Amino acid sequence: MQTCDYIVVGAGSAGSAVANRLSADPRNKVLLLEAGRASHPWSFIPIGMARLITNPEANWLYSSEPEASTNCRRLPVPRGKLLGGSSSINGMVFVRGQAQDFDTWAQMGNRGWSYSEVLPFFKRMESYAGEGDDAFRGREGPLRVTNPEPHDPLFATIIKAAAQVGIQHNPDYNGVSQEGVAMSQATIAGGRRMSTARCYLDPVRNRWNLQIETKALTEGLVLDGKRCTGVRYSVGGEVREARAARAVVVSAGAFNSPQLLELSGIGQPERLRNLGIEVRHELPGVGENLRDHYVPRTRWLVGKKGITFNDRARGLGLAHQVLRYALFRQGMLAMTGAPIRAFVCSREGLEAPDLMLGWIPMLFEPSPRGPKISRQSGLTLYAHAMRPESKGSVHITAADARRPPAINFNFLSSPPDAELTVRAVRIARSIMTAPAMTPLQVSETAPGADRTTDETRSSIGLRRPQKPPTTRWAPARWGPIRWQSSMPNFVSMALRACGSPMPRSCRRWHRAIPTHRRS
Ligand SMILES: Cc1cc2nc3c(=O)[nH]c(=O)nc-3n(C[C@H](O)[C@H](O)[C@H](O)COP(=O)(O)OP(=O)(O)OC[C@H]3O[C@@H](n4cnc5c(N)ncnc54)[C@H](O)[C@@H]3O)c2cc1C
Repeated sequence: MQTCDYIVVGAGSAGSAVANRLSADPRNKVLLLEAGRASHPWSFIPIGMARLITNPEANWLYSSEPEASTNCRRLPVPRGKLLGGSSSINGMVFVRGQAQDFDTWAQMGNRGWSYSEVLPFFKRMESYAGEGDDAFRGREGPLRVTNPEPHDPLFATIIKAAAQVGIQHNPDYNGVSQEGVAMSQATIAGGRRMSTARCYLDPVRNRWNLQIETKALTEGLVLDGKRCTGVRYSVGGEVREARAARAVVVSAGAFNSPQLLELSGIGQPERLRNLGIEVRHELPGVGENLRDHYVPRTRWLVGKKGITFNDRARGLGLAHQVLRYALFRQGMLAMTGAPIRAFVCSREGLEAPDLMLGWIPMLFEPSPRGPKISRQSGLTLYAHAMRPESKGSVHITAADARRPPAINFNFLSSPPDAELTVRAVRIARSIMTAPAMTPLQVSETAPGADRTTDETRSSIGLRRPQKPPTTRWAPARWGPIRWQSSMPNFVSMALRACGSPMPRSCRRWHRAIPTHRRS
C-alpha cells in the first residue's frame, strides 16, 4: 500500500493546480490520481475541442435525465477525462467571477470569500498578456491568458452594433468592471491550448515528491470513523489502496466528486441504503444544489460573402486556415469557439451584469463525430442568464464507480430564469438588428423574427421546446455556500466535508485556503 501526505483525486482544472501548489513544498509527498489518459492529440490545438466533445477517449460523455424543460430529451454533458480534466477539452474562454458574486458570498457569512480576499489568488494564477490594470491582473502565474484584438471585420462590426444599442466596448472584462462587449480572453497562447495539465503539471513533472497516476479510477474513500484517511482505486482492473497522512482532496469535478462521496457512504442515508451502501457519514447536501446555465442559441444567416467562418472554412479557405495555423499558429484553428461576448444588465439599476451573450462566427450542425460546419453561412448567438436560480441534483444510481450518475438540472423551475432568458434573447436581437449590422445582410432563422412575446418563449425552449438548448457545460456552483439554505451544504468554508475532523498534521494545507478566520 502506498503512503503519502496528500492524495488528490482528479487531475482536472482544480486538481492539477492543487497538486502543483502542494508539491511545491518539498515536505509534502503528493499522489495525484486521474481516471483518464495522460493526453490526447486534439487537446493541444484549440479547434480540437470540436473533436473531443463527443470523444469517449477524453470525455466522460454524461447526459442529463429527460425533463420537461428539455422536451424530455437528454442533454449532452461533456466532462474531460484526461490530465487537465475539462480544461483539456473546454472552450478556453477565460472569465473570472464577478466581484459582486464573491462579496455576496461573504455577506452570507462565508469568511475569506469576498472579492478582495480572492483577488490575490486570481492574480497569482495567471500570466495575462493583454492590456489591463495590474491592480486586477496577474503577470507571472502559471496559467497563460491572452486577449485577442478585434481586428476581424466581423468582430469589429458586432462591437459597433452593440455600442449602437448602448453596450460599450470593454477591453478587459476581467478587470475593474465586467460589463460591456469584448473579445473573449482565452487560455490559449502561441496557438496552443493552455490546459492545467500544460500549465500546472508539465513544469513540475520531475518533482520527486509528486507522483501522477493516470487511468487510475478512484472507486471509494477509505474512512476511519468520519475522517478520510485514504482512497481505493483501480488501475487496469487491479485494485489498490493509498493512505494520506494529511488530507485527501476530492477534485473529481462537479459530477464525479459527489458520486465518489456517495459511493463511499457519505450522503443521504436513505438513498445510500437503497443502493446497498453502508452509511458512514450522513450529509444530506451531497449531490444537491446543482446549478447550470440554460443556453438557447439563436441562429442568423449572413448574406454578405466571405465574412463568416462557414465561408472561410470551405475549400481553399480551409486550406488557407490550415496553412496559417501550421506556419504562424494563428487564424480560425487557434481561436475559442465563441471569440466575442457581451456581459449585459437585464434592466437599469443593476450593479453588475446578469446576462451573457456569446457569438460563434458560424452556423453548425450536430454529427456523430461532433459539431459539423454547416453549408449555410451565418452566426450562432447564445444568450442566457448568468446566475440561474433553478436547482437540480446529481446522484449515483448504483454502487459502481463506472456507472454514470443521474444528472437532473431542473432547468427553468425557478420563474426568474425563464424571464431573464427571454430578456437576453431580446437584447441579442437588438444588437443583431442594429444599423451597423445592415451591410452584413443578417436575417434571423431561429427562433425566427416573427416569433415575439410568448411565442418567443416556446420557440427558444421555455415551454415546449422543439429543439433542446445546451448548457454552458460549466455548472455554476454547488449553490452559493449558503449556511441558511434549507438543504445544507456538504463542505465548510474551508472546503472540507462538513463534520469530518481535521488531523493536527493538516494545518499547513488548511492555511493555504483563502479564509481569514476559520471556525
Ligand atoms: C465542453 C466544455 C466547454 C467548456 N467551456 C468553458 C469555457 O470556455 N470557459 C470556462 O471557464 N469553462 C468552460 N467549461 C467549464 C470548465 O472547463 C469546468 O468548469 C472546469 O474545468 C471544472 O474543473 P474541475 O477541476 O472542477 O473538474 P474537471 O476539470 O472536469 O476535472 C475533474 C477530473 O477528475 C477526473 N475524475 C473524475 N472522477 C474520477 C475518479 N473517480 N477517479 C479519478 N479521477 C476522476 C476526471 O477525469 C477529470 O480529469 C467547459 C466545460 C466543458 C466540458
